[in-house]
Amino acid sequence: MEGVISTSQIKDITRLERTGAHSHIKGLGLDDKLQITPGSGGMVGQVKARKAAGVILKMIKQGKIAGRAILMAGAPGTGKTAIAMALAQELGNDVPFTTISASEVYSLEISKTEVLTQAFRRSIGIRIKEETELIEGEVVEVQIDRNVTGIGPKVGKLTLKTTDMETIYDLGTKMIDGLNKEKVIAGDVIQIDKATGRITKLGRSFSRARDFDATGSEVKFVSCPEGELQVRKEIVHTVSLHEIDVINSRQQGFLALFSGDTGEIKPEVRDQINMKVAEWREEGKATIVPGVLFIDEIHMLDMECYSFLNRALESNLAPVVIMASNRGLSNIRGTNYKSPHGMPIDLLDRLSIISTMSYSQDEIEQILKIRAIEEEVDLSADACMILTKVAMETSLRYAINLISTGYLVAQKRKSNVVSVEDIKRVYSLFLDEKRSVQYLQEYQAEFMFNTPLNAQADDN
Ligand code: ATP
Repeated sequence: MEGVISTSQIKDITRLERTGAHSHIKGLGLDDKLQITPGSGGMVGQVKARKAAGVILKMIKQGKIAGRAILMAGAPGTGKTAIAMALAQELGNDVPFTTISASEVYSLEISKTEVLTQAFRRSIGIRIKEETELIEGEVVEVQIDRNVTGIGPKVGKLTLKTTDMETIYDLGTKMIDGLNKEKVIAGDVIQIDKATGRITKLGRSFSRARDFDATGSEVKFVSCPEGELQVRKEIVHTVSLHEIDVINSRQQGFLALFSGDTGEIKPEVRDQINMKVAEWREEGKATIVPGVLFIDEIHMLDMECYSFLNRALESNLAPVVIMASNRGLSNIRGTNYKSPHGMPIDLLDRLSIISTMSYSQDEIEQILKIRAIEEEVDLSADACMILTKVAMETSLRYAINLISTGYLVAQKRKSNVVSVEDIKRVYSLFLDEKRSVQYLQEYQAEFMFNTPLNAQADDN
């Protein structure tokens, strides 16, 4: 296709922000056999759901389940999003993970199906390989990580450096066997012939500027008859299909990637990209990395969107779609039909459902302790107990919110430790949902457009 911009110009700029509410989550906390690991990746309890997510993770890593959909179903605050974030952490940076809230599809600028299409294509990575050869025989700076002296096999790590890249290369026993009687010390510039294993010392280190971006590249040694070091760089970029779409869309152009304001992308552009990617695959230049699309509050979608999802999941370029809902039996948006989780039965039928359960008092206490550490707040033992009680009576989220506010109150009285009094104070300052409803009921006459709560329940 004419005008396809070189892959080296493309940068992966859509990464998920993983700080904030779930920043204490570092992973699913499972080992290879799906057993809980010490520390648990910051996760507490919810073992069944985590193990189920662990199975999904394995399948994603093995590239087995593109186009499959999973529903995380459970009451509010039971860790649905936390588990999805843990999965994202486990997948690492090279597998695209996109997260949207279903309400984001309602935009005035682009259609609902376009928003979903973009989210789908953001979640498909294309790993593109490019090989660049340095000028033959040219020496780059090579450093041995520790002093290596004498004859005989040695194992060490070799650091290959130019000014803009640093690659650790595991120096196999065989390769370093050719050291002769030379003494090679850290910082030396050496030449290696991989075929013979001969290493020649050239002198002290120096560096040379290179004007290519070698981020994430791999360096391979290749044999070289003259005994000179020859380096072939394999640069691997992972970009999302959506990024390739945007870059090649004349209307939008490259800069739209940074503003995020990509508008609608023409179907012809996407068809061309799909063809191009298929070509790259055939030529062995690219591999597809099916990523994950997480759609929170899935019940906010309507029939049109559900029908789109049904079809899109069948495409051979579909990611794994994880949906989350805290709804029980409720209306499908825009209709009078009641359905589990507010989703049509035909879509539900193709999902693997993972349910999350309510937490025990112990688990809540542990989660609060982990959050306090994450927020760098020192909670006294009593304060933690009270906070756990508050969480049991109100919600985990509400109690988590009291940690940082409690800390502000503690600091005001010049203490670094949050006490029971501080928690009591913030508990009285900020209402939880139950007390807020109670307050509304007491003072409903003073609010505008007030509809009694039991009347609303009848409407639903
Ligand atoms: P909702 O249905 O309201 O969206 P949710 O099920 O997605 O809720 P989360 O947002 O995942 O709930 O959880 C609420 C808070 O509790 C978050 O800060 C989350 O990181 C934390 N949390 C929930 N479950 C766990 C857990 N098992 N281990 C550690 N932290 C947890």
